[in-house]
Amino acid sequence: MLYLDNSATTPLLPEVKEAMLPYLLEEFGNPSSKYYSFAVNAKEAVENARNNVALLLGSKPEELTFTSGSTETNNMVLKGVADYYQSKGKHIITSKTEHPSVLDTCEYLERKGFEITYLDVDGYGRVSCEDLEEALREDTILVSIMWGNNELGSLNPIKTISEFCFDKGVLFHTDATQVIGKVDLNLENYPGISFLSCSAHKFHGPKGTGVAYIRRDEYGISTPITPLIHGGGQEQGIRSGTLAVHNIVGMGKAAELAYRSLQENIGKLNRLEETLRDILLEKFKTVISFNNDQEDKIPGILSVQFKGLNNEILVKKLSPVMAVSTGSACSSSKPSHVLAAIGLTIDEVRNTIRFSLSHVIDTDQLLIFYSL
Ligand SMILES: *Cc1c(COP(=O)(O)O)cnc(C)c1O
Repeated sequence: MLYLDNSATTPLLPEVKEAMLPYLLEEFGNPSSKYYSFAVNAKEAVENARNNVALLLGSKPEELTFTSGSTETNNMVLKGVADYYQSKGKHIITSKTEHPSVLDTCEYLERKGFEITYLDVDGYGRVSCEDLEEALREDTILVSIMWGNNELGSLNPIKTISEFCFDKGVLFHTDATQVIGKVDLNLENYPGISFLSCSAHKFHGPKGTGVAYIRRDEYGISTPITPLIHGGGQEQGIRSGTLAVHNIVGMGKAAELAYRSLQENIGKLNRLEETLRDILLEKFKTVISFNNDQEDKIPGILSVQFKGLNNEILVKKLSPVMAVSTGSACSSSKPSHVLAAIGLTIDEVRNTIRFSLSHVIDTDQLLIFYSL
């Protein structure tokens, strides 16, 4: 079985499983308890994981809050900023191709009296800084633009957008879930990013764990927002609830491995993608075209149209030997809002298959395409 749906989720690496196991069994302590070794060990494991994720992101460890994943982090940032800064303004800017966890949260906020501007994207799914400049208002309290898109692999001009927001003094959030471990990002070089979302299971860690990056200023003061989850005051009061120590340890290990092999993994992904593109072009030359920019994008994501083919039928037919998807896993029942936003017709959307690779794939495995 060839798994080519790594934008939906990735397989857990064996080293990650090994790191997690002790925290599911003998090291079961609650990191918020005190003095005895179970608690101290659990607390140490959590802080060690936080350090490893911080290294991968180029942040300070204390800028990271563990959450249940990017859906929660996106909710936490959007609702938390909206609530905290509503007396300053009620306008938020985002884009039409965001993940549903951003778009649905924005719709919820609209019902609560906030005004949202949804920026258009170009033919490859990228927002433009000129559009952002035009949309910015006196009462804009947040800009939320994803770093890379899960269906197209398109990359937004985050450097320019974050610098623009920094100059204007507007908070900027980016959903970076799809680029972690695939793009060399170092938050030290992005002072305009106030918040960032990422999720462990998109880079070979466990499901149900992610972080919220919340910037601290030069005095160590965190950007204030209203918490989404209230309770026992864990994570400095910003996210209550007993920490999922085993998952957090898994995320830390996945981050350590992703950091250590970043350049190697990016190289492997680029080579795999080239091989896959060559095979597809050789086998299906007359019927295929690419929806995404083949130069500037997340390595390993190909959005391909097969003219005349129904993608649902094709995905089903391939399912005994290959896992691919028609779009994103989260919106499989609806036609893709992302492909609609880049101007595809409903027929072109129905012709589209997304292939998303991972560095754990062996190049030889791609030869299966020749036997289709
Ligand atoms: C997967 C994904 C999410 C959701 O992350 P979870 O941790 O599964 O909740 C959000 N945004 C993007 C871009 C994603 O790819």
